[in-house]
Amino acid sequence: MNMINLTIDGIPVKVKSGTTVMEAAKSIGIDIPALCYLKGVNEVGACRICVVEVERARTLQASCVLPVAEGMVVHTESPAVVEARKEILKLILDNHPNDCLTCDKAGECKLQEYAYRYDVKFREHDGARRNAIIDTSNPYILRDNNKCILCGRCVSTCSQIQERSVLSFGERGFETHIIADNDRILGESSCVSCGRCISVCPVGALIDNRIAGKARAWETEKEEVKCTQCEYGCNFELLKKDGVVLGVRAKEPGEGRPLCLKGKLSVDLTYNPKPLAPLMKKDDQYVEVSWAEALGLEKIIDKL
Ligand code: SF4
Ligand code: SF4
Ligand code: SF4
Repeated sequence: MNMINLTIDGIPVKVKSGTTVMEAAKSIGIDIPALCYLKGVNEVGACRICVVEVERARTLQASCVLPVAEGMVVHTESPAVVEARKEILKLILDNHPNDCLTCDKAGECKLQEYAYRYDVKFREHDGARRNAIIDTSNPYILRDNNKCILCGRCVSTCSQIQERSVLSFGERGFETHIIADNDRILGESSCVSCGRCISVCPVGALIDNRIAGKARAWETEKEEVKCTQCEYGCNFELLKKDGVVLGVRAKEPGEGRPLCLKGKLSVDLTYNPKPLAPLMKKDDQYVEVSWAEALGLEKIIDKL
């Protein structure tokens, strides 16, 4: 394997050819901010917050899609880089609800983390803002498109990991937003509620409805557990507060295999002291039903 030598923030680095500057920086403990980047799933260089300065390059470069080159000299926090990141954050926050006090994502939100890191505050302005209706139609997923930063992680995850392709970008320009199927509410879409899009959303646009309002991120303990439903043995996370399980979280791709729906439900039943009863849609309403009814076993049980 061809090895490449470069310098990042004055530190010599040797990595395999084809490695991105972001991954090379990560290998020596330098954390370049990223909102849209999701390794192997969403490598599109769209949010631009990962820009770095490369000596002799004419413009700042998106490090998540920039392959290393021999002799490259990279600066990840130069004044020009910091200025660019601040501008990007200001633009995002200009059309974002100032809602951190009650947002369920606070404490785990990448936008919040980077705004703090680069000292960018919400601005008062008279510009147009999105006015999306909060989608509560899916019993498991709370969707607030007002908080969406259009990173595309959920879209790629739903199509590549879950292979459902429920989500996509709809409209254009200021009206651009994430749509389910042909712009349906989630509860009426082909979504199977696997929750993977929730685990990759960097902000509070997609929240696990079952955990919403139950604990702040910093109050929860996380326990890694393996699924036993198949030979893959996926790793995933139990969220607990005061020792009580609040919910099950699918892991991000790249941190072990992402959890399938069967695994998620079975782990929920195994670990949650009060597992939710299944919900079925009847007359346009979700109602609690027995497992036998949900699994279509009622007739079989009656015959036994
Ligand atoms: S999504 Fe992040 S930045 Fe936006 S309100 Fe929630 S915590 Fe704050
Ligand atoms: S919950 Fe799963 S199927 Fe539904 S939109 Fe998200 S990733 Fe796609
Ligand atoms: S819903 Fe979340 S993951 Fe999807 S595009 Fe918006 S911010 Fe990104």
